[in-house]
Amino acid sequence: MDRVDIAIVGTGAAGISAALTAKNRNKSLMLFGSGSLSTKIGGEHRIRNYPGISNVTGIELQQAFRKQLEEMDIPVTDVKITSIYSMGDYFALQSGPDLYEARCLILATGVSAGKTIPGEEENVGRGVSYCATCDASLYRGRPVLVIGYSKKEEEEARFLSEVCSSVTYLPQYSTPVHLPQSVTVLPLRPEKIERLAQEKKMLLQAADQTLYADCIFVLRDSISPGQLVPGLATEGAHIVTDRSMSTNIPGCFAAGDCTGKPYQYVKAAGEGNVAALSAVSYLDRLDHPQT
Ligand SMILES: Cc1cc2nc3c(=O)[nH]c(=O)nc-3n(C[C@H](O)[C@H](O)[C@H](O)COP(=O)(O)OP(=O)(O)OC[C@H]3O[C@@H](n4cnc5c(N)ncnc54)[C@H](O)[C@@H]3O)c2cc1C
Repeated sequence: MDRVDIAIVGTGAAGISAALTAKNRNKSLMLFGSGSLSTKIGGEHRIRNYPGISNVTGIELQQAFRKQLEEMDIPVTDVKITSIYSMGDYFALQSGPDLYEARCLILATGVSAGKTIPGEEENVGRGVSYCATCDASLYRGRPVLVIGYSKKEEEEARFLSEVCSSVTYLPQYSTPVHLPQSVTVLPLRPEKIERLAQEKKMLLQAADQTLYADCIFVLRDSISPGQLVPGLATEGAHIVTDRSMSTNIPGCFAAGDCTGKPYQYVKAAGEGNVAALSAVSYLDRLDHPQT
């Protein structure tokens, strides 16, 4: 696959805004995220503070974003990026067996509602996985646990049930779960999950029980930024940036909720625009070092 100018990770207001600006500036780009865009956009809630579109519902805003992407001929690559490595003059983005390359990077991954579980980050790749599509084949015929933070993760649990010997699903939300009978659904609330650890098998220690499996899939909308991009400077759940939305890694920019509060669409869209313009300047400096 060809190396693009800009990889944008995230299909919320920040990532979409960055993609529109990058496209306007004639840069080649890939926009990674969900085909249905951000779960935070498409709700019934009314948004009253987005300039130019008054009193719009989340669903209407989502439709407007999708229409604009189509008009600008910007496809969404519907994959979850699980690791990103800075290779000096380019970035390698991994999604399971697939690798993508870009000269610079914009992170627009939003913030995850749930905190990481003690023992989770240390065991990624060693019995904890963030991506069912990527890692299911490693656990073919073996028992797995799935901690799902939103209803859309049920699709991943269903897929795992076709591959793994047993699937126990722990929904971290309150809406009803719809899964095949072969999947054991265990309503274990987030506050009851104490830690994940490796003791021959992976174990999940809860307040009143211990569960064992070969792999624990932790499925959230976003992976913590420090986990996603090794070496990235973070402060708590947020990526540290300056006013140009540059991070501590040359060629890596960030925008939206992932850079900190306030969590607002208009702030996310504005930062996406700034990040894309900064990425364009960065590429121009690389291409024309004398000017
Ligand atoms: C119920 C609700 C109501 C709200 N109402 C308002 C309001 O009225 N006004 C307002 O201004 N704000 C409101 N907000 C806040 C607003 O939704 C957020 O500020 C905004 O969505 C942030 O946009 P973002 O692009 O930074 O992140 P997000 O919208 O969170 O989008 C991030 C995207 O990145 C994707 N992603 C993350 N990690 C990866 C990865 N590794 N690989 C691929 N894709 C990835 C996610 O799937 C998601 O699509 C509301 C939020 C909620 C939850």
